Amino acid sequence: MKASQNNENIDIESDGSGYRLQGKGEKEFLNKCRSFPDLVITSHPNSLQEGFEYFFQKLGAKSPMQMRGRSGSLRFVIVFAKYGRKLMKGRKKSYKDIEPYILDLEQNGKYTTKSEGPELLKTYPNKNLWSELLDYAKNKWNIIKIGFTELPSELIFRNKMVLFRHALVFMQEMKKDKIDKAPGKEAGDETMRIYAELGEAVADIAEWLRSKGIRSQAVNPLGGLVCTPPLAGKAGMGGQGKQGCLITPEFGPRQRLAPIFIEEKLFEYTDNNEHEWIEQYCRTCGNCQKNCPAKAIYDEKVISIENLPGIGAMRTCIDKDKCFPYFGKTMGCSICIKVCPFSNGPKTYEKLKNLITQKEN
Ligand code: SF4
Ligand code: SF4
Repeated sequence: MKASQNNENIDIESDGSGYRLQGKGEKEFLNKCRSFPDLVITSHPNSLQEGFEYFFQKLGAKSPMQMRGRSGSLRFVIVFAKYGRKLMKGRKKSYKDIEPYILDLEQNGKYTTKSEGPELLKTYPNKNLWSELLDYAKNKWNIIKIGFTELPSELIFRNKMVLFRHALVFMQEMKKDKIDKAPGKEAGDETMRIYAELGEAVADIAEWLRSKGIRSQAVNPLGGLVCTPPLAGKAGMGGQGKQGCLITPEFGPRQRLAPIFIEEKLFEYTDNNEHEWIEQYCRTCGNCQKNCPAKAIYDEKVISIENLPGIGAMRTCIDKDKCFPYFGKTMGCSICIKVCPFSNGPKTYEKLKNLITQKEN
């Protein structure tokens, strides 16, 4: 069964456990990588099954066009018409750009094309390149924060793979005035806009990195290959909130994340655990849980993977069977982001941090 949308074929196939939905680029990438598993980073046996196809499966839809309810479908068509081309362009580009790497691995069993990585490693940690990267991402894509960390295989979605181990994580803000109108067309629109823009951004930044001779793989934020919020948490960009989003000092949960994987550890990892206090604040708040229309947020987080390197336990905060149908119908719900005090921005983050740390002292 196939549906074609804006130049990218989306294949929907049954694997016996439900429907899977993958872009053509992702499907080809994974199929090829399966023939040389030792040359890529593969998911861990403990990895979770998530990603694009899992989302639609949970929606009870065999395709994006079949999201439950007529209003959901209609809204999808309207939003897709607006952002679909960009969304698919970013996804398509991220796979097209790594075709030469795959070809190299298929033909030679290793990378043989020239890389500046070893040269750049001589000046580790490469602070000049790091600040050039920050400038490029900020000036061109309004990305004000980048994390850098090692990818644990457990964060690669089940049966998926990536090419490189070192993860740059990029964050873009969702506009507060739009999210404040959640749930509805404007917040849904903003969710799709940010997926589309961030997808384009990471594809472009990966190209910029390649222009510097750094082997890079961009991963689109829509669906994707890895679970990005805990990866960003590991990179010290924020802490997990009660609703499961990454709470960042800059925008709270009002952001989206996407990674680029690079071959060498060119920079210092940004890992830290400065945001652990957030969980303590959540225990006194509970706004997201009280306001979730689907009653999807758990009282207590559930451990989904134990002993993740650099993370500890990975915990699930929401019942996806309850959240995803509502999220799909509203094209991005976002109520649990809207009502989170951290969405107000850095001043609130600092204020709440002081409150918690004063209590402790
Ligand atoms: S996105 Fe909506 S339905 Fe899902 S957990 Fe948040 S508030 Fe609940
Ligand atoms: S709304 Fe409250 S409980 Fe929920 S994540 Fe934000 S601070 Fe935590």
